[in-house]
Parts: sequence; structure tokens; C-alpha cells
Amino acid sequence: MSASYTTDMPFRRTVLAAAFVLAVTTVAAAQAPVSYRLSFPEPQHRWMQVEATFSDVPAGPLRLRMSRTSPGRYALHEFAKNVFDVRVTNSHGVALRVSRPDLHQWDVAGHDGTVVATYRVFGDRVDGTYLSVDDTHAHMNMPATLMWARGFEARSARVRFEQPAGRTWRVATQLYPTEDPLTFTAPNFHYLMDSPAEFSAHTLRTFTVADAGGGAPQFRVALHHDGSDADADAFARDAEKIVRESMAVFGEFPQFENNTYTFLSDYLPWASGDGMEHRNSTILSGPGALRNPGQRGGLLGTVAHEFFHAWNMERIRARDIEPFNFEEADVSGELWLGEGFTSYYDALLMRRAGLTPLEGTLGSFAGTINAVQLSPGRRLRTAEDMSRLAPFVDAAAAIDRTNWENTFISYYTYGAAIGLGLDLSLRERSNGRTTLDTYMRALWAKYGRPGQKVPGMVATTYTMDDLRNVLAEVSGDKQFAQTFFSRYIQGHDIVDYGPLFARAGLVLRTRNEGRAYFAGAQQLTFQGGGGGRVGSAVAFDSPLYRAGVNRDDLIVSIDGVNVTSQQALDQLLAKHKPGVQATIRFVRRSGETINSSITFEEDPRLEIVLVEQTGGTLTPQQQEFRDAWLGSRQK
Ligand SMILES: [Zn+2]
Repeated sequence: MSASYTTDMPFRRTVLAAAFVLAVTTVAAAQAPVSYRLSFPEPQHRWMQVEATFSDVPAGPLRLRMSRTSPGRYALHEFAKNVFDVRVTNSHGVALRVSRPDLHQWDVAGHDGTVVATYRVFGDRVDGTYLSVDDTHAHMNMPATLMWARGFEARSARVRFEQPAGRTWRVATQLYPTEDPLTFTAPNFHYLMDSPAEFSAHTLRTFTVADAGGGAPQFRVALHHDGSDADADAFARDAEKIVRESMAVFGEFPQFENNTYTFLSDYLPWASGDGMEHRNSTILSGPGALRNPGQRGGLLGTVAHEFFHAWNMERIRARDIEPFNFEEADVSGELWLGEGFTSYYDALLMRRAGLTPLEGTLGSFAGTINAVQLSPGRRLRTAEDMSRLAPFVDAAAAIDRTNWENTFISYYTYGAAIGLGLDLSLRERSNGRTTLDTYMRALWAKYGRPGQKVPGMVATTYTMDDLRNVLAEVSGDKQFAQTFFSRYIQGHDIVDYGPLFARAGLVLRTRNEGRAYFAGAQQLTFQGGGGGRVGSAVAFDSPLYRAGVNRDDLIVSIDGVNVTSQQALDQLLAKHKPGVQATIRFVRRSGETINSSITFEEDPRLEIVLVEQTGGTLTPQQQEFRDAWLGSRQK
């Protein structure tokens, strides 16, 4: 195994890549590829020009579309809204008649077998979903950028980037390279849509990592940021640690098309925080800077999350979201595994790679358990139900208030709690021989590795029953698998973590024993000394809820003492014991003043501490359990 770092090298083209390009050319001979020319006449004004040419168009109307969704995103994003100045001609440049059956479609009639659509598209959001064009780059998510034609899904595509005047930008993308450094291809529509591109004067670092299966893919880190070369070097080194620990979970890398995987990283003050997985690349974006130690950990955590998706989501994939639907919201009941287990692993991989201190990892596990255990939503909906709500919550824009604080738990968090519970349960049952890594490897062998018949598509997908059956095989206990699924994934129970943590010499305990608790993560804002305004939904059945307080109400006093600041509130809580009743005076947003009573509860939030920090002794067995779980898995 060797790693080599190179600075600002042009992308290497492997022999394998050349073979792929040949294969695509052969297939495309039967049906002309769709050709895109992307130009940037005024990048500073944040729009770009697209010319899309469709040849060998069958008789009848051609139905052109802009996507409503983007792979890895489950809500509707309506990309047609930023498209304007659409012109459609035939092969001789003669304008064709276009009708609009809906907001996302352009129907073109009377063509001569060739249709050329040109349009401008505005984009000013740097993240994993949208398009961003400015004087520093064109950061392209293809569903936000490219118009496509119904019925052309099997055709290959050719994408040509035109250099903006006065620039020497380069392209970072998982699209297939050609002899021309600004021209790329995609074998079909799904691969094209899955292939974001960063066109800029970015910094590039590369390294290769060999796996046990004889693979040695190249990893490219394309960085568009305002940091130094030293920041880029350190980032690439840490990304490599994450890549190695991820590979150790599965024992091998996926077969990346073109044998390369690209991290497209935009860390810019005007970027939005995001991470988006693709088959052979990921978009990482955010306003943070690598040089900032307080932001670095979060940026690396996203690297771990998205890279783990190269197996879990991109290739181990649920049947309900394959093939991905670009016209309607994509719904699946298994995001607790695709996203949630990936979230559990991003924390675990950061620990195994030595990039998060142990206390940080335990803190994040405790936060995950608290979020699931204390949320009223767990009584209302299962992890499967929560997964199916993704189109309502996954960066979905709504202007009406929701009650998600009470009725929803993120499938990232819920699934991470399930992953943690399953990992510890498997380890406990088998004395460490079977783990969640074993389960993920089994899923990989059955659903991920068999791979694809068509690049960009997953041939062997799973259902909920499949996931349960593989757990039965891995654990050797059908009853265990059935119970685990019916209680914790399709039911409302939460794993009993305490005894499981004890096996690792960890103590799960309440973090404020005997302290009165107000109302969950209730946020009060204090202005002008008149009281505390309730800024978010009040948790069902919490002390505040039972006192009749709701969002927007102003809490004036408790037990006759004015609540004028957070400090005053904390002092009041410190004086009251759980179970004690007190008077509470508040003003509803309607103006009505209410005198009620409130009964404090004990702070239910948990923490995880090392047994050796509680005066106990760490046994050799506990140390071994802890190391096998949280230590590096590289051999
Ligand atoms: Zn994810």
C-alpha cells in the first residue's frame, strides 16, 4: 500500500478510462449521443448558457424536461424555475414550435430529426443540489443545469465546457475523460445526472490506496477554497485516513468507473453547508475553512459520511429509489439504513481514523440517543415511517410552520441510534465475532458487489425483508433479527443501551441527576427584561406543555420570581427539585395573561462516560471490546 501526493497535476487518464471511452463510442454509434455545450459569457452575472443537441430524434414530438429532483435528495427542487430565454431550432437553425404541457416540459414538434435547444440558466447557490456560477467557478449539479429528453435515457452524452474569457479553469468531475481536457462523456442519462462538475482554478491533490481485492483506485481531492497549500495537503492526508478506514469496514473498494473517485470540495465564505454522494465522487461544500480548527472536524465528518455512501447508498441501494425518479419525489422506508447507518459510521470512522477524540465520539453517541429517546415523535412514527417523510424535510422549502419537533425524528439520527444499538448488540451476543461491519459486508456481498449491468444503475437492490433476512443470516438467529426489526425499526421501542455500553467499560447515566428540567430543548429569548419568549414548538407532555404554554408565549415569572434572563431561569431551576409544583405566569400571544402551575421533572438527558472516570476499573475484556469497536480496523 502506498500513497503519493502530487500538487496541481492535471487528472491522470488511465488505460481503463480509455477503454471505457471506446466502449461508449461503440454503443453510441447506434444512437447519436446527446451533445451539450456549456458556455459562460458573463460568469460574474451568475448565469450560464447551455446548448443541447438531440440527433436521430424519432418522428413525433420531442419532450424536453428539466428535473424536479436530484440524486441523493428526496424533496422536489423544481430546477426549471431558473431556466430562461429558451430557443429551439432544427438542424438548419429554423425555430421550432414549442408547447408547454407543464412547468417542467417543452414539447417540440415539426423537427427534422435534429433538435437544438439553447437556454440560459441562473444559479447562485454553492451546495450539492443546485448550480452556482460566478467569477471564481461554475459549480454544477447536472439536474439543476441540463435539459434532457424523455426516451433518450439509454443514450450516451457528450459534454463540452467552453473556457470563459481570460480564465484557465479546469474541470473536476466523475464524467468520463476524453483526449480533450474540456470534453467529457457519460454512458447514459442516469450517469450524466449523477455527475456534478467543478469548473474552476481549483487546487488538486491525488493519492492511491490499494485494497485486498487487488484494486488500487486513484483518489482526487479538488479544492476550491481560500486556504493555503498546506491546508490542502493536510486535508488530503486526513481524507486518505478516512478512505483507508472506510475500506477496512468492507475489505475492498467498489469498482469505481474509470478507477477514480473525486472529492469536489468548495469551502468558500458564500457556500452553503452540504455534502452529496455520487457513485464516483462527492460534493462537499460549506462556509467553513480548513484552517479553522473549530470547523475542520465537521468538514472531515462530512468527508467520512459521503465516502461511506460510495458503498451504502450508491451501490447497496433500496429498491424504492432505483432507478432514481427525476420527475417525482423519491420515497423509501429504508433511509434509516442508507442515511442513518452512514451517520453512525461517519462518527465511528472519524474515531477509528484518530480524527475525533474519544470524548467527542461518546458525546455524539449520547446526543444521538437523547434525540431519539426524548423525542415525542418516536411514539407516533417508526424509523421506517420517518424515512418515508424525507420529501417533506430533506432541504424542502415550506413557508408554513410545522410541528416536526413533536412529530418527526430525522432518519439520520434515528438510524444512527439503531446502527449503534445493532452494532453493540451483535458484538455482545457473539463476544465480538460478529459486528455491524460484518452486517455491512454481508449486504455488500449480496447487493453492492454484484454491481451494475449499466454504469450508474444498481442491478441488485434490497427491500426491508432482505435487510431482515441478511441480519438473520449474519447473527445466525432468525428470532433475534425479527425482534430487532419489529421493535426498533418498524416499532416504537429504543434499544436498552446501558448494559451494552457496560461491555465496553462505558457508563450511560443521566447527566444532571436530581436537577429540575424545564421542557426539553426549549429556547427562550429574553428582551427588555419582561420575560422569556418561547421560540420553538413545546414538546408534547413536557412540564411546559402541561402548564398550557405554547410557542410565542411570554413566560413572565415562576413562583413569583421574574424570569428576566437565562441566568435568572437557571437559578430558579437549581432551587426546585424534580416533582415539585410551582406557579407560573405567562402571557399568550393573544395578550391574555395566564396563572397556571408547573411540575418540574428530572433532567432526562443522558451522557456516556468512561468507567475509569467514575471510580470504577476497566477490565481487560472491556478494554478489548472498546478497542475492537472504536480502534483502527486497518491491518
Ligand atoms: Zn448521507
